[in-house]
Amino acid sequence: MVGSGSGGGAAAGRLSESGKHTVLCLEAGTKGAKYIWTRPPAGAANLVDNPAANWRYQSEPHEGHGNRQIYIPRGKILGGSSAINGVIYNRGQRLDYDTWAQMGCRGWSYDDVLPILKKMENTDIGDDEFRGRCGPIPVNEASKISPFYDLFIGAANAVGIPYNSDYSGATQEGVAMAQQTVKRGLRQSTATQYLEPARKRPNMTIHSGAEASALLFDGKRCVGVRYVRNGRTEEARAAREVIVSCGTANSPKLLELSGIGDPDRLAKHGITPVHALAGVGEGMRDHYGAILKWRFNRPGISLAKRGRGWRLMLEILRFGLFRDGFISQGIGTVRVFTRSRPDLENPDIMMVVAPYMTEMKEGRGRRLSPVEGFFMYSHVQRTESTGSIHIRSADPADPPAINFRFLQTPNARMTSIAAVRRAREIVESPPLAETIAEELQPGPDIQSDEEILKFIQDTGQITHHMVGTCRMGQDDMAVVDDRLRVRGIEGLRVADASIMPTLTSGNTNIPSIMIGEKCAAMVLEDAGD
Ligand SMILES: Cc1cc2nc3c(=O)[nH]c(=O)nc-3n(C[C@H](O)[C@H](O)[C@H](O)COP(=O)(O)OP(=O)(O)OC[C@H]3O[C@@H](n4cnc5c(N)ncnc54)[C@H](O)[C@@H]3O)c2cc1C
Repeated sequence: MVGSGSGGGAAAGRLSESGKHTVLCLEAGTKGAKYIWTRPPAGAANLVDNPAANWRYQSEPHEGHGNRQIYIPRGKILGGSSAINGVIYNRGQRLDYDTWAQMGCRGWSYDDVLPILKKMENTDIGDDEFRGRCGPIPVNEASKISPFYDLFIGAANAVGIPYNSDYSGATQEGVAMAQQTVKRGLRQSTATQYLEPARKRPNMTIHSGAEASALLFDGKRCVGVRYVRNGRTEEARAAREVIVSCGTANSPKLLELSGIGDPDRLAKHGITPVHALAGVGEGMRDHYGAILKWRFNRPGISLAKRGRGWRLMLEILRFGLFRDGFISQGIGTVRVFTRSRPDLENPDIMMVVAPYMTEMKEGRGRRLSPVEGFFMYSHVQRTESTGSIHIRSADPADPPAINFRFLQTPNARMTSIAAVRRAREIVESPPLAETIAEELQPGPDIQSDEEILKFIQDTGQITHHMVGTCRMGQDDMAVVDDRLRVRGIEGLRVADASIMPTLTSGNTNIPSIMIGEKCAAMVLEDAGD
């Protein structure tokens, strides 16, 4: 295994659990499952720009996002991005997986993956038909630690958005408290839930601080991995197969460095092609949306004060004693899934809402704002705009070139504008409306479609859900087949968010873990176990 994140951690854990194979897991990050900032959910604020646990990438500028560079955090730690993320649980919609199946990916419809999603989780939420009760990942619901939540939910109800007690159940649509991968106030990542139990087994070896620089081939068969650990270059040989799970940014990078990709691109960097696959690094998608902000006209609704000064000390004490309060909460603890037009069958907008505001920290990461208000991301769920991620050079130390191309289709632009208007509709409705002093962002002057679009282009941010750069499918641009085998190469699979043919309707940690779980099951099946 190369990479121990959501996909890789789950696959490595399940393969070792089978007891039938020896598993070596190489992870570039050096921090382990118990790294202090990874356990309290609010500790994510200290990981978003932390070089000890984060690759800290920057995108290339593009007109779709106002010709700015966008900061891109990615986990570089045991558990990968599952160890630094916002802990929100969201499996997406039935439609997402059925679309993959319609695109030719056999075995990936919602009915196919539902048993895996259930097997992964352990929750009291929802119906047995949809939810799992005894898997490795605990899932709970964020608690209402401020009057804001009922005010917001009431306002959403007032514009016709119903309360949904399980957005991972029969339907996603509605307003809801966020579900979180948290137990007794502590984050549950693939490091804690899959790799720590696996580490104790004799068939599992985990090397942290081991960064793969190339895959090794015998003709068209992948036979191992070259990696650098403690300043020394080492090689590991695979008796059966190699699974690349370096994530959407680094899986295509490793393939290209190893000679798998578009031959012209490889030649430009002096890399001898092993196998031509033009789709490597193409088809990248992410969620992109403007951050909207409002200021309250009274104290006590926002959590801004509870995250600062002596009140923060109280929150730390509360967390230490009872494992609850502000520090036990994920990022954006209210979720809205709604439709931009009544004639749609499924929600195409997601809103991420929190009773505080954040501000930019020197262009990378964010910190809590002292202003008593709240923020919301309101964005398109399933964008058609695709970008790319490719190597910049043949040097493994060079970060990849990440090119988002947001808002490139009329539908993406139209729905993004509708997402802002729908958010305003909620906030302008009672009972929330009575608590609002002013709209800070975009602000009352931004009203026309053109103004709103420009605001989104100039200020929008990603919500960290990059997928698609080693896309699964049957067509010429597909990188892996529906058993996650790299097309045209033996002994090599990819298992992480990069294989997703389209972006799921929501956050991507759970779909990525599901991909790791399914990969392990297919490896065992193909080995006849
Ligand atoms: C800041 C942030 C917040 C997020 N919030 C949420 C959320 O609240 N809910 C949600 O569902 N999703 C969230 N996501 C998205 C979700 O966490 C990711 O989609 C998911 O973790 C991706 O899994 P992956 O297996 O594809 O990659 P990752 O989990 O990123 O794993 C890739 C692993 O490979 C390692 N690696 C890379 N290159 C090499 C190499 N050459 N050699 C060895 N190892 C290598 C990396 O260090 C990393 O550990 C968030 C992501 C981020 C970054």
